[in-house]
Amino acid sequence: MSVIYNKVALIGLGLIASSIFWSSKRGGLATEVSGYARSQATRDTARRIGLCDTVCDSAIEAVKDADLVMLCVPVGAMGQVAQEISPYLKPGCTVSDVGSVKAAVVDAVAPHLPGGVHFVPGHPLAGTEHSGPESGFATLFDNRWCLLVPPAGADPEAVAKLRRYWEGLGSNVDEMDPEHHDLVLAVTSHTPHLIAYTMVGVADDLGRVTDSEVIKYSAAGFRDFTRIAASDPTMWRDVFLNNKQATLEILGRFTEELFALQRAIRVGDGEELFDYFTRTRAIRRGIIEAGQDTAAPDFGRTKTGQ
Ligand code: NAP
Repeated sequence: MSVIYNKVALIGLGLIASSIFWSSKRGGLATEVSGYARSQATRDTARRIGLCDTVCDSAIEAVKDADLVMLCVPVGAMGQVAQEISPYLKPGCTVSDVGSVKAAVVDAVAPHLPGGVHFVPGHPLAGTEHSGPESGFATLFDNRWCLLVPPAGADPEAVAKLRRYWEGLGSNVDEMDPEHHDLVLAVTSHTPHLIAYTMVGVADDLGRVTDSEVIKYSAAGFRDFTRIAASDPTMWRDVFLNNKQATLEILGRFTEELFALQRAIRVGDGEELFDYFTRTRAIRRGIIEAGQDTAAPDFGRTKTGQ
């Protein structure tokens, strides 16, 4: 791999930014990477572990002369960060982000950016339940999708360069419009997270009745829910507040299906339950065949460090 951007600036230094840094370093994709996090504690940690070539005390300092500025903060903070850095962006640079919601981020960021700056939002479909500057690792994006949502009329050169950068980070890259992205992610990520949060909440209520039995005897299904439900509260609060419409749409459909299954259980309709579970099992096989997960009982997590 060769250098794609001379200087990359990472604003926010958590799981995603730190993984971008280590992966960018692995591929030799940038000559220099600067970084900024709002808290002194995170900046100190970043300096201690060598996260970024330069850790700056302000976002303004970090974006100076940067050819790519990557916003790696929670979705709800993107607009305010864009406003702060916009007067200091290098003309002709690309601004991107890694937010889990796209339409709201485009609405929040685009109005602040000056002409001559290319805005190409993105979203790597890779993560773990851990957060903070020490949670990142170089292989996080390997063989994972990264979705770019370039606005109509975006400069093809700027989009192609960002695509090459994400490919260098290990990702497969696709393009989508923001609304479609938000609907797809509501199905594949956002609603499942809400269900996991709810299920762990239900078990917690039950746990109060049955002491520690829920944890002691928790089978793999529930343990997976608890892992998902351990995800960062700020990030996920912002996801739901900013992908409201699509999440509510999918939750409505989910509730209808749940009622149908509930009824099948009540009336003893084994055929309906069997057919439903057969259909869902085929979907799981499809995911494995598409290389998006492994059939290993632990989902291969011990190998990837997730
Ligand atoms: P993280 O580990 O919690 O790190 C977030 C970073 O943003 C921290 O450096 C934090 O600074 C900073 N920050 C938080 N609130 C801020 C604010 N109001 N203003 C300025 N900076 C702020 O988060 P992450 O998991 O890397 O997520 C970052 C982005 O990636 C989010 O938009 C998320 O939706 C997206 N994403 C996450 C995942 C995932 O699985 N985690 C996957 C794909 C995309 P301090 O440390 O100083 O508080």
